[in-house]
Amino acid sequence: MNKKITVLPGDGIGPEVVQSAIEVLNSVAKHYNHEFEYTYAKLGGVAIDEENTPLPEETVRLCKQSDGVLLGAVGGPKWDTLPGHMRPEKGLLGIRKELNLFANLRPVTAHESLTGSSTLKSEVINGVDLMIVRELTGGLYFGEPSERRQVNGEEAALDTMIYSRSEIERIMRQGFELAKVRRQKVTSVDKANVLESSRLWREVAIEVGKDYPDIELEHMLVDNAAMQLIRNPKQFDVVVTENMFGDILSDEASMLTGSLGMLPSASIGSGGPGLYEPIHGSAPDIAGQNKANPLATIASTAMMLKYSFGMVEEADLIDAAISKVLNDGHRTGDISNPGEATLSTTEMTAKVLEAIEELQAVKN
Ligand code: NAD
Repeated sequence: MNKKITVLPGDGIGPEVVQSAIEVLNSVAKHYNHEFEYTYAKLGGVAIDEENTPLPEETVRLCKQSDGVLLGAVGGPKWDTLPGHMRPEKGLLGIRKELNLFANLRPVTAHESLTGSSTLKSEVINGVDLMIVRELTGGLYFGEPSERRQVNGEEAALDTMIYSRSEIERIMRQGFELAKVRRQKVTSVDKANVLESSRLWREVAIEVGKDYPDIELEHMLVDNAAMQLIRNPKQFDVVVTENMFGDILSDEASMLTGSLGMLPSASIGSGGPGLYEPIHGSAPDIAGQNKANPLATIASTAMMLKYSFGMVEEADLIDAAISKVLNDGHRTGDISNPGEATLSTTEMTAKVLEAIEELQAVKN
């Protein structure tokens, strides 16, 4: 297969981890006779410096023309004092909007050999394998009005939580489709005891669920979900929720595994290219030092292969290679225990490439 990938390295450690991910993609392409064609474009701080905007039109054009977009990270102290519309994060929000990406998928998988780096007990963490599906373009973050006004003679502020049936339906459907190829369970998270928008959410979840009779649908209030994620995260398979609840729960869930450097994400829409990125930021404190953990970005490419290109076997190979290097005891600084040897970004990448060769050799 021949696929066009737009690459947005971004700022800080972005270019370092993206380079690692591309080396891994190239290795997979070689083994499976695929051709990946990369086009580089600017987003975030680097685009502000060179083009005076966080999201150049050329970047939007190239992303729209591609089969998938791979992003490193954006931002850093250099751009922190710029006005809102010129901040690197505006570039990220802008490209998600331009590509109409309404679903954010964050898998959280506990690697047994890493449970020591979680703040939770290993018996709670071992075996966790869940996927948070967050609605990305509606709800409180986009609802209008969102403004300050005078109420009873004093300043007040107002945001609007609004969801239409079709917005809820498409994200629930996404969740059910994912559950079909996982463990057949969807947990729909809402606050239906208080919010009208949540009562509509629950109604639509039940309606969509009728199209998926083999999949168990449970409803959970968001406060309980926050508690259950820490108490017993193994109970979850696919968790589907609205924008703000998902924002909070996905960060909470990401800490189950102990390190930001391990977690990939995918943002997908209807039909167009998806955007694949690690959940961590640009880590300015270690940028340019060859210290970043590249595994989250490498795992993000596995999601691109699976969800945008339908290359499931290839994606599984990358995930298996990541598990192998961790089980073999290889660590970057962020996931090592005191006294343990640590690998650089390039050394860790080399270990993943070696693991791919070894796994392929066993298969053949
Ligand atoms: P961060 O994720 O960049 O870093 C938090 C901590 O985790 C730092 O100590 C960092 O060194 C460490 N870390 C992160 N990724 C790592 C990796 N791959 N390997 C090893 N260690 C890693 O978050 P922050 O410090 O709050 O933000 C820094 C900048 O990144 C800010 O400008 C912020 O706005 C931006 N940011 C961007 C994104 C994105 O592009 N999606 C997301 C979050 C933050």
